[in-house]
Amino acid sequence: MSCSKHTAVSPAIDQKVKEVEAKINLSDEQLNSIMLKLMDEMKKGLGKDTNAEAKVKMIPSFVKALPDGTERGSFLALDLGGTNFRVLLVKINEPDAKNSKPNIEMDSQIYKMPEDVITGSGTALFDHIASCMADFLRKLNLLDQKLPVGFTFSFPCKQEGLDHGTLITWTKGFTASGVVGQDIVKMLREAIDRRGEFQCDIVAVVNDTVGTLMSCAHTYPQCKVGLIVGTGSNACYMEKTSNIELLESDDGDMCINMEWGAFGDDGTLDEYRNEYDQHVDEHSLNRGKQLYEKMISGMYMGEIVRLVLCQLTKDGVIFGGLSHDSHLFTAGKFETSYVSQIESFAKVSSKKCDLNAVPGGMTAVQNILASLDIGAIRADCEVVIRVCEAVSKRAAHLCAAGVAAVARKIKANHPEKDDLSITVGVDGTVYKKHPTFSNLMNEKVKLLCKESGVNVDFALSYDGSGKGAALITAVAHRLQRQVVN
Ligand code: BGC
Ligand code: MG
Repeated sequence: MSCSKHTAVSPAIDQKVKEVEAKINLSDEQLNSIMLKLMDEMKKGLGKDTNAEAKVKMIPSFVKALPDGTERGSFLALDLGGTNFRVLLVKINEPDAKNSKPNIEMDSQIYKMPEDVITGSGTALFDHIASCMADFLRKLNLLDQKLPVGFTFSFPCKQEGLDHGTLITWTKGFTASGVVGQDIVKMLREAIDRRGEFQCDIVAVVNDTVGTLMSCAHTYPQCKVGLIVGTGSNACYMEKTSNIELLESDDGDMCINMEWGAFGDDGTLDEYRNEYDQHVDEHSLNRGKQLYEKMISGMYMGEIVRLVLCQLTKDGVIFGGLSHDSHLFTAGKFETSYVSQIESFAKVSSKKCDLNAVPGGMTAVQNILASLDIGAIRADCEVVIRVCEAVSKRAAHLCAAGVAAVARKIKANHPEKDDLSITVGVDGTVYKKHPTFSNLMNEKVKLLCKESGVNVDFALSYDGSGKGAALITAVAHRLQRQVVN
């Protein structure tokens, strides 16, 4: 793509930018290969003899049944794993007179997770969580109730049941010590006991993708996949239990938390990764890990754009005479939200990026750059937009390759159906805030699934970590009580 219509970019600069775009762009053929490689990985992860060496872990979530609509009660939901920590109270009430679906009421509070807490000691991390829970329960006058809790913990956890989760590795910005290899439910229980201010019954550990799927399936029964494109990226889907070789049981379906972020950690994606991807990985908190996620998700997208812009500045293509102490040269300063904003101001479509289409668009882009001490003329702004567009488009296309792999796997499980329609429930800031990500992903999934007998559509999933986690907790709580009584 180029800003050809009214461009201020000279042919020489255009040439340089095209070279960078070519380095980032992935062709349909490449995307098709990536899809096929992920399908191989999924098979490896599900296989008893191959799981140990598989990078895509395909973790059984122990969530089997979709909610049947009879779940009722009050639940506490915790949401850890994005930028903030949230505590929610979810009440599932009898349906209203006009409605057949239960009426769901929610209240919640967002708590900041200070940098020193997510990178300090695990004990301090869980103490912080317990103190946020106490604060929330105090405000709602619920300290004396023993509520069932669903814990949305958005990291790779090996599960032996719904209420156990052993952290395999931290991802995203988390590094708290002494948690990897531990049962996080036990750590939370201990923190709550240390505090001694309230009691609760931790019923379920839920990955955010699984909550997203459940929340969406409550509205769209054909929802079979949950997808997150936020700080991190991951997907889950309903798999036939008989295909999950690590499980004894053979009946029905179970939701698999794929942990697809780790795709490529054995070198599978090396031929598609460029020097910017390598730089991002080398300077990350988890080197060599989550390589697919690092090409897609919001924690890294802005940083990839920043690295490209640094290179173009050094090569004299943009920002002539930029001072060495500009924020552009500081890691992490180019936020992923800027990418979304810049592309919104420029109205990027598949054919053109038009800085004139949005009134005030150019000034808005200049203002973002000014916050990084960058003075930009029109040609600079156009180049910045093209770089943002190349990086976010690649992310959307890589994500599409992943979704297409999952869709084809679900189709393979249902050979009896000629035409299968599935819905993917999606959440995450990149998906929700970026102006073209969802369309680009959608288009590419259609292409990659062409003639495979599966038709995919996407639905925004609302509050998977609240509603979704509460529904899972409610189902589990109901089953638990049936066993006890
Ligand atoms: C984690 C996943 C999570 C995803 C989205 C990844 O870094 O490993 O468990 O689902 O981020 O939050
Ligand atoms: Mg989240």
